[in-house]
Amino acid sequence: MSVTVRFAPSPTGNIHIGNVRTALFNWLFALKHDGKFILRFDDTDGARSKREYAEQIASDLEWLGVRPHRVEYQSKRTEAYDAAVERLKKAGLLYPCYDTPEELERRRRIRLSRRLPPVYGREALKLTEAQRSAFEAEGHKPHWRFLLPNFDVDPFATRRTEIHWDDVVRGPQTVDLASMSDPVLVREDGSYLYTLPSVVDDIDMGVTHVIRGDDHVTNTGAQVALFEALGANAPAFGHHNLLTTTTGEGLSKRSGALSIKALREAGYEPAAVAALAVLIGTSENVAPSASIEVMAETFRPSSSSKSAAKFDPTELDLLNRQIVHQLPFEEVSERLKAAGVNVDDPRAGQFWNVIRANIEKVRQAGDWWPIITDGPARDIVLDGDDLDYARTAFSLLPEGDVDASTWSAWTSAVKEKTGRKGRALFMPLRIALTGRSSGPEIADLLPLLGREGIAARRP
Ligand code: GLU
Repeated sequence: MSVTVRFAPSPTGNIHIGNVRTALFNWLFALKHDGKFILRFDDTDGARSKREYAEQIASDLEWLGVRPHRVEYQSKRTEAYDAAVERLKKAGLLYPCYDTPEELERRRRIRLSRRLPPVYGREALKLTEAQRSAFEAEGHKPHWRFLLPNFDVDPFATRRTEIHWDDVVRGPQTVDLASMSDPVLVREDGSYLYTLPSVVDDIDMGVTHVIRGDDHVTNTGAQVALFEALGANAPAFGHHNLLTTTTGEGLSKRSGALSIKALREAGYEPAAVAALAVLIGTSENVAPSASIEVMAETFRPSSSSKSAAKFDPTELDLLNRQIVHQLPFEEVSERLKAAGVNVDDPRAGQFWNVIRANIEKVRQAGDWWPIITDGPARDIVLDGDDLDYARTAFSLLPEGDVDASTWSAWTSAVKEKTGRKGRALFMPLRIALTGRSSGPEIADLLPLLGREGIAARRP
């Protein structure tokens, strides 16, 4: 069977690392099964959905290496949903309700006080034609509920009705349709809630696997019934655990800090964000993959744990560093250029190989380039004994070409002449050469500076 998945964000804000988990679970699943990936914007909420969010989401996905085969907008598919509504109405499976939120809340409380499940009691089904007309005459508009198939003949005598599926992530699942309210599919103003358009699209677009967050497990019960009511077979489902902040709060499209846009702007590597988004909260090691294709080969949705996983930004820093330390020059040259590195300089490639082990973000290389090409930073300045010592040491630089062995020859000579060793020996030299107390190995820096560059740094 060919596989088709979809990632269906509502463009009501910037996507965050938790949304990306869903996107990547789908993308890796599609890659692994040589399937198709649809990016579907669930933008039926006209007031909150924004074009610029949709564009940002598409660009964030591209940055992460996700390449949708097809892009769809629910706002352009209203006719298909209208047709499904007609079909459900004809079958007597969609009924108008005039209950106000206050009435619903009052009944919910009563049910709870009687120790009954707080589900909708289908009061609207009892309305006579005359009562409905009266509501309409008073200007009330109905919302529409889907009649769940959780009864034999009498909708007021519900019975346990189990929906089963073998979840791609969680294994065998059961939901009881008698434990939930008939879902509202259409609002008073005629707009659609997510439930119906999602099912209509999944049918029309041939979606074979719906992979999404485990906050949708209950929805799946109702949606399976809806697939059947619309004459279709339900697809396979997978529900992954959600990510929370380190303090356990849910991530939201409004909490900007963990948005992909913010992480991107902060200079994180897409491979670090992707690896963490997928591997956190699974039994796999959180380690970078050579590529997204390699990640897809080893990806096992079922390795996710059942409980929510905490997203810890320090883990992202760690992963990012590991990735940056391995990035080849060719892959970063554009970004180095943007950070102020003259990538046409013959030293640029070697500079990157030396510097990458000491930075966390690619753009930090930009701080080091002038230190190598122009002169030391002024973070620390030598004085007193250290200044005298450094002057002596500089006059002991070995003759000849400066290469990988220069540092060891130089330090031996300095040690012999001054008696200094360890930190007391090298730190003043590091400071004289770079103006900083930490940085790349001095042995590696010297060939980059060259004899002239070193001489020019004599304090
Ligand atoms: N728009 C829905 C959401 O973001 C999609 C859920 C689904 O994948 O079915 O939660």
